[in-house]
Amino acid sequence: MKITQINARVLKGRPEKSVVFAAGRYPEFSAVLVTIETDEGIIGYGESIARSGGEATKEAVEKLFAPLLIGKDPEKIEGLYLFMVNQLRRFGHSAGIIIEAISGIDTALWDIAGKKANKPIRDLLYGAGRDELEVYASSVYIAKTEEMIAETKDQMAKGHTMIKLKSGHSKESGGKYADIEKIRAIREAVGDKVELGLDANSAYDAADAVWMAKRLEDLDICFFEEPVHPDNLDGYAAVRQHSSVPLAGGETVFLAYGFRKFLERGLLDVVQPDLARCGGITGARHAMVLTHAFGARFAPHTGFSGGISHLAALQIASAAPELYRLEYMFIDNPLREIFIGGYPTPANGKIKVPTAPGLGLELDLDLVDKYTVA
Ligand SMILES: [Mg+2]
Repeated sequence: MKITQINARVLKGRPEKSVVFAAGRYPEFSAVLVTIETDEGIIGYGESIARSGGEATKEAVEKLFAPLLIGKDPEKIEGLYLFMVNQLRRFGHSAGIIIEAISGIDTALWDIAGKKANKPIRDLLYGAGRDELEVYASSVYIAKTEEMIAETKDQMAKGHTMIKLKSGHSKESGGKYADIEKIRAIREAVGDKVELGLDANSAYDAADAVWMAKRLEDLDICFFEEPVHPDNLDGYAAVRQHSSVPLAGGETVFLAYGFRKFLERGLLDVVQPDLARCGGITGARHAMVLTHAFGARFAPHTGFSGGISHLAALQIASAAPELYRLEYMFIDNPLREIFIGGYPTPANGKIKVPTAPGLGLELDLDLVDKYTVA
């Protein structure tokens, strides 16, 4: 089999309600969909993360990588992955849009391999092969305290046993004081029978992150995600040194080298690779092995991405030999609803893994066209 064509398109979709977290108000979802065609007629799909400026990622896929890959055998996945990474790593490009572009390509190659073998990707990984897996409900966004309590209770009523909250009020709206007051009110309102995680989206500097972490200990927070910016490893180390709250992160980490830096310093308890950013299925597989080697917990990130990225996360979570939980986004996301038959909804805190060949579900190409802007 040979690769004959590689294209990328930018998708955008607006949910009914925008959400607020430390990065600001998010009114729109966007993603880059990578399509790889072959001489056997098999077409693979992958996704590159693109919170904004997806056109730049599309250019990277089509101008930088497509010329390197056309004519190559799409099933030599890890070889192609390293070929792409090594082409640019020597120039210092081992993070950012470049690796996000590789992530979409890599996932599309796995999709092709699955379709060729007539198996879902998880079966090609010869892992745990879970048919369903535990999720945590994500996320209760920053809002009025009563609204955040109501949302948390609503998710508990839907059967979720672990729920993630957001923190990161702006200085004008109360900063860390508003954050801790709301988290405390939620814990008091829901009792101690539900696990609560907290995601700060890098809202704090090291001093405020330590301040928060010390107070989170009394609120039985099961993990404190991205307390500081992802390049501030010393900030993670400061939180680690001064509190016992488990630390989570990884959605903004690239390649095995990125995860190694965190893990060799013991800075993560929960490792959260994003499939559309870290290097696709191959990058997440590397992160999974490192997580195992360093004795941490594996919990792939899904977030604001489109449905292809969510499916890729489901496949890797299904295969992972050890899995903590997969992030399930309960917020309205039009770019996840692009499949024939729909994306699975969890019941009692568990989600079923789709089993069609490749990524597990078939794209509704009319819906993909509807959301395509470039
Ligand atoms: Mg996060």
